Order: sequence, then C-alpha cells, then structure tokens
Amino acid sequence: MLDHLAYKAPEPKVIAGAKADWELVIGLEVHAQVASNAKLFSGASTTFGAEPNSNVAFVDAAMPGMLPVINEFCVAQAVRTGLGLKAQINLTSAFDRKNYFYPDLPQGYQISQLYHPIVGEGEIIVDMGPGVARRVRIERIHLEQDAGKSIHDMDPNMSFVDLNRTGVALMEIVSRPDIRGPEEAAAYVAKLRQILRYLGTCDGNMQNGNLRCDVNVSVCRPGAYERWQETGDFGHLGTRCEIKNMNSMRFIQQAIEYEARRQIAIVEDGGTVVQETRLYDPDKGETRSMRSKEEAHDYRYFPCPDLLPLEIEQAWVDDIAASMPELPDEKKARFVSDLGLSEYDAGVLTAEVENADFFEAVVAACGDGKLAANWVINELFGRLKKEGHEIGDSPVTPAQLGGIIALIKAGDISGKIAKDLFEIVWTEGGDPAAIVEARGMKQVTDLSAIEKAVDDIIAANPAQVEKAKANPKLAGWFTGQVIKASGGKANPAAVNEIVAKKLGL
Ligand code: ADP
Ligand code: MG
Repeated sequence: MLDHLAYKAPEPKVIAGAKADWELVIGLEVHAQVASNAKLFSGASTTFGAEPNSNVAFVDAAMPGMLPVINEFCVAQAVRTGLGLKAQINLTSAFDRKNYFYPDLPQGYQISQLYHPIVGEGEIIVDMGPGVARRVRIERIHLEQDAGKSIHDMDPNMSFVDLNRTGVALMEIVSRPDIRGPEEAAAYVAKLRQILRYLGTCDGNMQNGNLRCDVNVSVCRPGAYERWQETGDFGHLGTRCEIKNMNSMRFIQQAIEYEARRQIAIVEDGGTVVQETRLYDPDKGETRSMRSKEEAHDYRYFPCPDLLPLEIEQAWVDDIAASMPELPDEKKARFVSDLGLSEYDAGVLTAEVENADFFEAVVAACGDGKLAANWVINELFGRLKKEGHEIGDSPVTPAQLGGIIALIKAGDISGKIAKDLFEIVWTEGGDPAAIVEARGMKQVTDLSAIEKAVDDIIAANPAQVEKAKANPKLAGWFTGQVIKASGGKANPAAVNEIVAKKLGL
C-alpha cells in the first residue's frame, strides 16, 4: 500500500499581481459517463456515434406515463468508483428532480442526487513528481442522467435534437477546493481518469465528452487558504467562478491561468468578483460570462416521486469490494518495492492499465523486472509510438519480448544482438529462441573460439599491444575488435577476461 503521508505537498502556485502576490484555490466537478451498455433508467443502448435518435426508449423521450427503472449495473459502477476513491458508500441514497427547460431535455427535469448522494467523502493522491503529491479530498459522487444534444450547425435556419445521449448515466465527482494550481488541476483530472479506467467504470474518452469537468476558480492572498483549513470558514477564500464543460487538459490549464489573472485584476482595481458561470473560448484564450450563478432553489429540486429511495446492502458492497482490481497507486508501489523499479519508471508503466498489464506479462515471461522495464519503456514504447501503434496491436507480444529478454539473461545473446532480434520479431514474428538457433545468432561463449580470435587480433596489431601494456585502459580496444570480428556474438565478459590474460595485464 502507498503511504501518501510519506509525500511532501507541492507549493501552491503563486501569481504575482500588480500590487501583491496571490494564490489559487480550485475545486473540480467532473462528469464521468458510466461505462454501461444501457442507460441509467432505461434499456436503451449507449453506443457512441449511432444514427441520431436511434437509441431512445419511451422513457428517455419522456412519453406520458413512462416510468424510470434503475439500472443495477450503473449503481454497481458508482459504488465501485467510490471504493476506488477510498470513499464512504451510502447504503441509502435518493434521486431528486432538477427542473429546467431545454430542447434536449424532454422531461423538463434531470434526475440527479442532490440531498443524498450514493458516495460520500473520499480522496485522490495527485502525484506532482517523485516524492511530491497533493491529497485532494472528494466531497461526494452522485449519479445523474445526461441530457441530449442540440445541433445548431447543420442548417442555417433550424436546430436539431439528438436524444441518443438523453438518460445516459453520469457520475458527478465533486472535489473539495484542495487544488492549488493549473498543473495540479490537470494532474488531478489525469489521475482521476486513470483510476476510472483501471476500475472500468468510465472509458475516460475526453474527445467524445465521456469525461468533462466544471472548474471552480478563486484567488486569495497567501495564508488565507490555511485559515480556511483551520476554521472551515469559506469567508477566508475568494469568490469563485465556475468554468463549464471543459474536456481538454490543456484548455483546463489555460482557462485557470486566464481566470486567475482576470480575478486578480478585478480585486486589485478595488472591484469584487461576481460569482458566475463562465465559458472558456480556446480561440481567444479567454473566459467569458455565461450566466450568473444559479442556486439550488432556482431549480426547484425535489425528491423524484417516480423513484423509491435507493437502498443497497452492505453484503453487495462487500462483493464489489472483493472484486476490485489493483489500483494505480498500489501497482506503482508494488513495482517499486517488489521489482526494484525507479518511481519514475513505475509511474510510466502504470499510467495506462493496458501498459501495466503488458509489462507484467513480459516480467512473467522473463523473470526480470528491471530488464523488462527497460525494454518495454525504451524499445517497445518508442517503436509503438514511431509507427503509430497502440499497445493492444503491438506486433511483438509480451511472450515474445519476454523470450528475447530471457535469452539476454541466459547469456545466449548480447544486448546488441537482442536489438537485431527484436527487429526480426517485430517485422517477421516468430519464437525468439528458435530464431536465434536457426540463424546462428547465439553468443559465442566457446572459450577456445574466443581465444583464437584474441590471438589473431593481438598478432595483427603489435603496436597496439605495446600501448595497452603501458596503459591497461587501452585493452578495451582489443575487446571491441574481437566482438566486432565475431559479428557481435562473442560474450563481452569472456572476451575481456581472455584479452587481459593474453596481454598479461
Ligand atoms: P454548485 O453545485 O453550486 O456548483 P457544489 O458544492 O456542487 O456547488 O460544487 C462547488 C465546487 O466548487 C466544488 O468542487 C468545490 O470544491 C468548489 N469550490 C467551493 N468553494 C470554492 C472556492 N472558494 N474556490 C474555488 N473552488 C471552490
Ligand atoms: Mg455544481
């Protein structure tokens, strides 16, 4: 287990204003689409990119008299997510109606969980470099329906509505305002996305809008944040603005930078920041006001009369807990402690669960974590990236790469020959050991053969011999020549030894 207390917190980002220094306070509300084949309250499909309005059940279209029926799998996914964030699971939760009108919302309300969310307090450890991490507290996760999509750019005179997304299950994951800079905010989203993907509860596809977030930003003078921590009095913090619907790590950072400077300029000018909802315009690099901040009572929230309170059993939660996968922090810590990897390498290998699985299969095939890490990170990832492959369609399988590494370990091939072998396996496939055998690539450890090669080189280079006897550091030249003459197949350690002996060093 990872002990996050062993980590040092990063320094908050300090932004110089015209008159004083300022710090950032950021809280994120992430909307993560639940990975599920069916919607939250209907059996309609959630397939992305389907023909418009083809994945719409009567209840999604709000036909009169239709009633929602909760999808147990979506509830399990929310519980699994809560457990993955070390959060409290609420055995009783309830659904509320959030009322508003929009053409892509046929019901005239969104079914959400305001008063009694399914998941309570949890945490995410956000790594900010070796030994440095921010603990960001999770306030709650609630389940809610997504809305449909209005399409305004297909016709000059008309707008269209696609209800395929209407009623798809979302988890809204709300953080406490514990994030202290733009890089931390992006790292938080990346870490959350990583955990969700490990759990299999959200595919994390930001381009498709399956993971998007509202970014709350305020600025305060140094020390104010600590006073809020001590007293719990939000009055110590600045007024926040909420930037809606961000689905790019880069834009999240840019929007926060811009927003911080905008708020600082207002306050330093003697004005006050107005709490409001803003939109980020990536072309202009600016946020602009969208609407004044709405309050819960504006939506006339009330318990949804169509749904009973959601009661789940502790035993059911325990079953889910028993089937949890190993999560990134634990996997990374294990790679460091059990396989002897550096924290950096362990971080690279655990970033995506598919990479970690591939790496572990390589280790299983060769029994050497460090060599496997080197080969996977340097040779395999480099090659995959160069040729635009995903790890899932790597031409070299974990068993093949493990086989190559096993041959190095056994002393059958040198590191240099291993690269040639990797090339052959990459382009032609095949069993590494069989290829080495068939093509005579085996390292020569036959001492008499090496001895003969050393004798030949010594005989042909009397001047070099004199130099090496005077300066033993030059003996490496002979080793190099012998290995070269053998086509890279002579075992370097054996050659070294024989060269030294023959030169009388
Ligand atoms: P609402 O639904 O009104 O947006 P929530 O309580 O659901 O309110 O979420 C508010 C978000 O704003 C949370 O992520 C919280 O961490 C964040 N937040 C609260 N106060 C501040 C602040 N002073 N500065 C920045 N973020 C804040
Ligand atoms: Mg909100």
